Amino acid sequence: MVFYKMKVTLIILICAICPLMVSAQEKDVVISVDKLSNDVYMLTGQGGNIGVYVGQKNVFMIDDQFDRLSGKIKATIDSLTDKPIAFLFNTHMHGDHTGGNAKFNNDLTTIVAHDNVRKRVMINQQKKLDNKDITELYYTKMLPEVTFSEDITFYDGEETIMAFHVHNAHTDGDAMVYFVNNDVLHMGDTYFAGRYPYIDLNSGGSLKGYINAHKKALMVIGDETKIIPGHGRPSSKQELENYVSMLEDLMTKILAAIKAGKNLEEVKADSLISAAYDATHGTGYIKPEAMREIFYKSLVNQ
Ligand SMILES: [Zn+2]
Repeated sequence: MVFYKMKVTLIILICAICPLMVSAQEKDVVISVDKLSNDVYMLTGQGGNIGVYVGQKNVFMIDDQFDRLSGKIKATIDSLTDKPIAFLFNTHMHGDHTGGNAKFNNDLTTIVAHDNVRKRVMINQQKKLDNKDITELYYTKMLPEVTFSEDITFYDGEETIMAFHVHNAHTDGDAMVYFVNNDVLHMGDTYFAGRYPYIDLNSGGSLKGYINAHKKALMVIGDETKIIPGHGRPSSKQELENYVSMLEDLMTKILAAIKAGKNLEEVKADSLISAAYDATHGTGYIKPEAMREIFYKSLVNQ
């Protein structure tokens, strides 16, 4: 009887886990759409938020999440317009923003990114090519075809699309994209709305660069600008200002701890440092302890 009960419990446990495993797969991911202005939409699925600008003749797309979601993302864009995608812009190199490059890259679509995005995507895809996980053709189609070092501007009728690089922020190849007339800014992963940021220190990111990126964004935008974060919900200028204040406060506290001789383990364990923000920002992918570790490592290595 006891064995029987154990068996039943085990089956129930397995069945309880199964749907969770399946839900992480593509078939349950829903691509949702937020209309932010006359011509600009934000698409949310799994991975980084996608920006879609429907122009006079073509579409300008920002980031593309994962390869396995490309069909769903394309179908969602097709539901908004029948115009072709002329440009696909990568805000940075991470796979949840560039994973669909090969699927979207065709004769009509040109992939654009900062110089360092191409370099880092090349390195990552070369490993997959060496392991024979991808073909030569797939490798080539993953790479940005037009790159820039500081900024690049696109013109489409009344709209001006300004893309500008911010130095050593989330990575070493971040760029933001501002649609001047629509008044929408896509910040890529230089902004994680409503949660602590992930700063990729191994790919050239830094806390100071991250904060400077926000200050550059705040100089460009106005009070009514809609902001697309890399992750999280659309935000306002005021919300971004509050976020920068939080980062500066955390930086000040962690710098003080470093000056007081605290080591990494002590700062990681010191929950008082971020107590004021943990409930509102510490429940996402980056937990409070991980945030304190990233900030500490960035500040001691600068
Ligand atoms: Zn990222």
